[in-house]
Amino acid sequence: MTQTAPESRAVTTSGDGRFASLDPRTGEVVAHHPIHDAKQVTDAVAQARRAANWWQELGFDGRKERLDAWRRLLVKRLDEAAGLISAETGKPAADAKLEMVLVIDHLHWAARNAERVLRKRRVSAGLLMSNQAATLEYLPVGVVGVIGPWNYPAFTPMGSIAYALAAGNTVVFKPSELTPGVGTWLSDTLAEIVPEHPVLSVVTGFGETGAALCRSGVDKLAFTGSTATGKRVMATCAETLTPVLVECGGKDALIVDYDADVALAADAAVWGAMSNAGQTCIGVERVYVHEDVADEFTAHVRKLAVKLRPGGDPGADLGPITMPSQVDIIRGHVQDALDRGAKALVGGVESVRPPFVEPVVLADVPEDSTAITEETFGPTITINRVRDVDEAIRLANAGKYGLGGTIFSKTRGEQLARRLRAGMVSINGVVAFAAIPSLPFGGVGDSGFGRIHGEDGLREFARPQAVARRKFKALLNPMSFTRGGGTVRQLLTIVKLRYGRK
Ligand code: NDP
Repeated sequence: MTQTAPESRAVTTSGDGRFASLDPRTGEVVAHHPIHDAKQVTDAVAQARRAANWWQELGFDGRKERLDAWRRLLVKRLDEAAGLISAETGKPAADAKLEMVLVIDHLHWAARNAERVLRKRRVSAGLLMSNQAATLEYLPVGVVGVIGPWNYPAFTPMGSIAYALAAGNTVVFKPSELTPGVGTWLSDTLAEIVPEHPVLSVVTGFGETGAALCRSGVDKLAFTGSTATGKRVMATCAETLTPVLVECGGKDALIVDYDADVALAADAAVWGAMSNAGQTCIGVERVYVHEDVADEFTAHVRKLAVKLRPGGDPGADLGPITMPSQVDIIRGHVQDALDRGAKALVGGVESVRPPFVEPVVLADVPEDSTAITEETFGPTITINRVRDVDEAIRLANAGKYGLGGTIFSKTRGEQLARRLRAGMVSINGVVAFAAIPSLPFGGVGDSGFGRIHGEDGLREFARPQAVARRKFKALLNPMSFTRGGGTVRQLLTIVKLRYGRK
């Protein structure tokens, strides 16, 4: 299998079966990595399968000990990890460090809670089966394949990797071709703690390497990336009936109610939209603000957004657009909005200066323009006024995505949150749910399905096993050919008495 770098990507093949990851700030080569073919991927999965038995045998305590040691190592070498994240994505050092802090917190939670969530438990057998002992246990699925994106190259895949490992699985990870170094670093550091077997191995390359992982016979495939690729991954996994978890893009809305703390909401909107240069699946892309507070809110947003400066130097607020082809999409969305009558409050088409994009704030954006309907993934935001929150909720829910959402309201945040068609909501704050390890992360609609993080995230990488054990002879046993003629009749009498009355 010969793979060549897709034109859209900031990578080059070197002709020797390797490709280079580049620093998007400078175009310099960060490192070369192998392009793994289908055979190498299958071999990695076979090795992970052998390791899986050993890892499972360690039990919750043994795995926790190793994962805790890995966590301490990540803390110790946080700067090194952050440096690599910055080099491959271009994001500012402080943001890369923040990403690692979240990784560490999630790893801690997953290791600490796996046994509580997944261990064997007794459940009630019910009246009719009272002669049985019923137990439920969440067992590891075996080998989990993880395919990750480049925008949070440690945090996003670790949302699957940490939880899958804690649940007793081994993992084969295919990082984005833009960030292979971060993936390899994660695998190498865990190997220092777990030298016996490859419990987390990495395969690098392009989309074909990812497709090979889908076909490799892994027991579950956890994908995070764009909706278009998610559909391809699902189709490939369907060939082998490999179960998938699909975490895709979003077009999250932030709603500002008439009673909101407007300054706080503006600060959250600007951070939610512009941090990581807007390359965040749960980033704020749209704002719907109550008309009573719209002028005040917009003024705050402008004041904050104009101060932000993209660049590759240590003092920059935003890094570059990591994936070169995204620049055209960002420019296209801004242009489309302006052509249809939107107002540019900050920046405009001229703000797109590859590889950087300066903040763009657009107002009165037609609801059918791409800046509203498609994921922009740049430091841009749309602000539209609404008459009331009903209109805001209707517009927020109108899109095809349903990942996250944000509500600013002093009195009815929770009530409004329930009406959002989104997997996660922050009230009077932004993206807070992602930093709370006990909360499940995932969306609906074109944002995908399945959950990482939290108890649901642990169970996502486990197979529930239900066991019924006969304790003693049942008074009535209708499930035998030796049952007497009256057995079912007696059973029906019990059912009528027990379930047929109010
Ligand atoms: P892509 O969908 O382009 O790629 C995601 C991963 O899939 C990459 O590792 C990619 O490899 C791999 N891949 C590409 N083609 C195939 C294929 N045919 N079979 C198997 N794997 C394949 O996404 P991006 O990397 O551009 O990431 C950005 C997207 O991720 C955004 O839409 C963003 O919203 C979303 N995202 C979602 C999150 C969530 O949790 N919901 C979190 C973070 C990001 P390669 O890079 O080598 O092409």
